[in-house]
Amino acid sequence: MLPLPFGIYVHFPWCSFRCPYCDFAVTTSRPIPGERYATAVVEEIRRRAPAFSGRRCATLFLGGGTPSLWEPAAMARVVEAARALGLAPGAEVTLEANPESADTARAEAWRRAGVNRVSIGVQSFDPGVLHKLGRRHGTADAERAIREVAAVIPNVSVDLIHGGRRSSAETARADAERLVALPVTHVSSYALTLDAEVLAEDVPFARLARQGKLTFPEDDEVLAQGRAVAEVLAGAGFRRYEISNFARPGFESRHNLLYWRSEDYLGAGAGAVGCVRSGGGAVRWTNHREVEPWLAAVDAGELPSASEEQLGPSELANERIMLSLRTAQGLDAAVLGPARRAEVEALVRAGLAELEGGRLRLTAAGMDVHSAVAERLFETG
Ligand code: SF4
Repeated sequence: MLPLPFGIYVHFPWCSFRCPYCDFAVTTSRPIPGERYATAVVEEIRRRAPAFSGRRCATLFLGGGTPSLWEPAAMARVVEAARALGLAPGAEVTLEANPESADTARAEAWRRAGVNRVSIGVQSFDPGVLHKLGRRHGTADAERAIREVAAVIPNVSVDLIHGGRRSSAETARADAERLVALPVTHVSSYALTLDAEVLAEDVPFARLARQGKLTFPEDDEVLAQGRAVAEVLAGAGFRRYEISNFARPGFESRHNLLYWRSEDYLGAGAGAVGCVRSGGGAVRWTNHREVEPWLAAVDAGELPSASEEQLGPSELANERIMLSLRTAQGLDAAVLGPARRAEVEALVRAGLAELEGGRLRLTAAGMDVHSAVAERLFETG
């Protein structure tokens, strides 16, 4: 039997500026200590590796932040650390990039460092939407970045955001139409999240929305925008393999599939999250969000976790339900047991789910209300 796979996620927290809707662990401090950061990331991976002993590293994801600002030589050292844990040549190595720091020369250096998939934060091609999102790049920058990177590294994913100010079903549709004419293999299409309970106090859009100074489209309108994107992508041959993710055949994100299949992941870097199962439960850690305490902990020979959470069997089972139902593959209905049969039948009757070959899959209508549907199937007690 093949050893169980796991993914490595490395967080690179530096950005050129802070987008006003962003709640990620991000800093704009300068200079960026790229080499020192790589040394510490490699050390953290080495230190966390024993928890994954006997397992195979299947994917590496360099996320952020804006890791396209990282020197490729530093990045290459992190790829090497993943190779030492079994990352095979040709295995998926993704780098997140912003259009302003993605061009031919950089893409060539990323390829030499081992990167074979690039995810570009375009968000929109509409100048008005980009302006209202507080993004610094323009339409031409985004198209140039996609074309230049794809000419060197042909597996390019693009992030789109809908549901912002100035967004409409028309702008969302136009974004998707523009995108499918470009050399793109994968699309992540998200609604702007400004949930006051989820976002930190200091996220400017969330603060202004709480104060009633910014208004955003109603939920129904946001859903209509998401549907417009999905429709165009489906028409262009992209398969919706997860609620917010669409891929040309064979270009699904292997790293993200590990998350949705509840596999383990080694998170390293400031603000990174990791999860590893043991026995019937799991441990999930969250690293220090700020670079300085994270670096200090690594330098002191410690694991740089700010917190750890123990997950029991029923929490893991509920997470599996939540995550599996995000995917086109759906959930193995056998894990639900007879007590949930009536609920499953009710979901199918309501047109929110389909049961076929023992798998429960959400319909497009079900995906619109995914969290509420998943909670109806949770184990309680
Ligand atoms: S570029 Fe991305 S990670 Fe950086 S601040 Fe903007 S949204 Fe956040």
